[in-house]
Amino acid sequence: MESKKEKTFKFVVVGGGIAGVTCVEQLSSQFPSEAVALVTAGPHIKAVTNYKQVSRRLEEFDVEEKPSSVLEDKYPNLTIIHSAVKSLRTRTHCVETADGRVFGYEKLCICSGARPKLLTQENPHVLGIRDTDSAQEFQKRLAKAKRIVVVGNGGIALELVYEVRRCEVIWAVKDKAIGNTFFDAGAAQFLIPSLEADKEQAAAPCKRQRFTTEEPAPDAAHTFTADEYSRGQNPGPVESGSALGPDWHRGIELRGAEQGSRRVSVEYLCEVEHIFTSEEFLVSSKQTPKPDTGSWPVYVQLTNGETFGCDFVVSATGVVPNTEPFLHGNNFSLADDGGLRVDDHMMTSETDVYAAGDACSACWEHSPLWQQMRLWTQARQMGWYAGRCMAADVLSEPIDLDFCFELFSHVTKFFNYKVVLLGKFNAQGLGSDHELLVRCTKGREYVKVVLSGGRMVGAVLIGETDLEETFENLILNRMDLTAYGEELLNPDIDIEDYFD
Ligand code: FAD
Repeated sequence: MESKKEKTFKFVVVGGGIAGVTCVEQLSSQFPSEAVALVTAGPHIKAVTNYKQVSRRLEEFDVEEKPSSVLEDKYPNLTIIHSAVKSLRTRTHCVETADGRVFGYEKLCICSGARPKLLTQENPHVLGIRDTDSAQEFQKRLAKAKRIVVVGNGGIALELVYEVRRCEVIWAVKDKAIGNTFFDAGAAQFLIPSLEADKEQAAAPCKRQRFTTEEPAPDAAHTFTADEYSRGQNPGPVESGSALGPDWHRGIELRGAEQGSRRVSVEYLCEVEHIFTSEEFLVSSKQTPKPDTGSWPVYVQLTNGETFGCDFVVSATGVVPNTEPFLHGNNFSLADDGGLRVDDHMMTSETDVYAAGDACSACWEHSPLWQQMRLWTQARQMGWYAGRCMAADVLSEPIDLDFCFELFSHVTKFFNYKVVLLGKFNAQGLGSDHELLVRCTKGREYVKVVLSGGRMVGAVLIGETDLEETFENLILNRMDLTAYGEELLNPDIDIEDYFD
């Protein structure tokens, strides 16, 4: 492959998603006289627009698909190669593309993203949603559908069940509450009423709840153990108030063939046992008589014993990093989730090869307040930081881990509510060594604070709470808040002034 090299670039970045584009922009602008290449499979690239720093750590931006010429016009030293990478030879520092060309690199960054982890491969009745094409296919199929089964409990499933209209949705989640990737049972209960069709939610009086990891005091009507709470046994907040990327559904109507509005039934604590075609289902029904489930193109049997016929199944059960083309003949170290392991300089186990975004797994020793989640914000941060690390390496300059990896922070929207997640927002990895404070106003806001050793280590803010900046500062300052107790969430106290 060495002798066939068409050209050698100082830097080659693979992937026209957020991570790859951010990385290549960083390198092209820092080294205007060096040759930089972006190798990407599709004709378009994803560009960050309307970037807004919401607070020290929180950022918001839109992502737009643009023709790749936009980048070439901006950076004269950048060449865009429209072909997928077919193979990589780390020993000779070159990549081969699907159209048979070979390019050399001095430093390479792999930003090839991830693809949906489908329940089953090559079943025409099972769809995954990843990119514009798959979203359009979903929309087309939905237009003729009366009932769909959505399997999965992450962000994509959450958005989807909320947006779909005029089609019955059976939502199968493996957990005891919806949105387990982002929320606990209390937040899930707060969101559930939004799934009920077109109901206006009146704001109920505000209640505060406190949850401790200790035994509840006998008279403590508002106290629950964290364990009870996480098992969803706390009725408090519930009754008293409880690639593509963000907005991928904006601009596409998600309507089925039925009349009416949203109809969602959630099947909790179950996974898919089996998917039958209508013929297979007929045969199996003859052996074991089943209740009349109508006639559908596909049937989904769940592990809770229920079987549902539907027009098609949406598999939203996570993603698998796209690493295959890069592995053969090389010696990459992979994480359990299939991502390329990277160190605190975004470097893989192969010399001069970096990785960023969904394709990589962050394997350095994380800050106690940060965790990797395959999200747009992290794809942008990693792409940018990988570019800086590659530059520092070339210039033999030292570089410290960027401060964006100090505190996990994410702003998004679920069920039309603003959602801010900070630090160990779900008490991840804290075991029983934490305390929760919760304030909830039905239909308006849900605020949860995670305290550990008296210090705030995480928060979930749903609705227009205006608390993100103060909480972010409290988390970063590591201030002992023991003395403030429940007052922290007292709605009558202006907490911003309090900590001024
Ligand atoms: P990608 O955006 O997947 O880009 C990968 C690029 O690599 C693509 O251009 C692809 O063509 C290219 N490529 C792949 N293989 C090769 C190859 N062999 N050779 C050359 N090029 C290759 N995140 C959020 O933060 N908030 C959300 O609300 C949200 N919603 C989502 C909804 C959906 C439906 C999906 C699918 C994802 C959502 N995400 C969301 C996740 C977010 O989109 C991803 O984390 C992010 O896009 C990852 O960026 P990336 O650059 O690493 O990968």
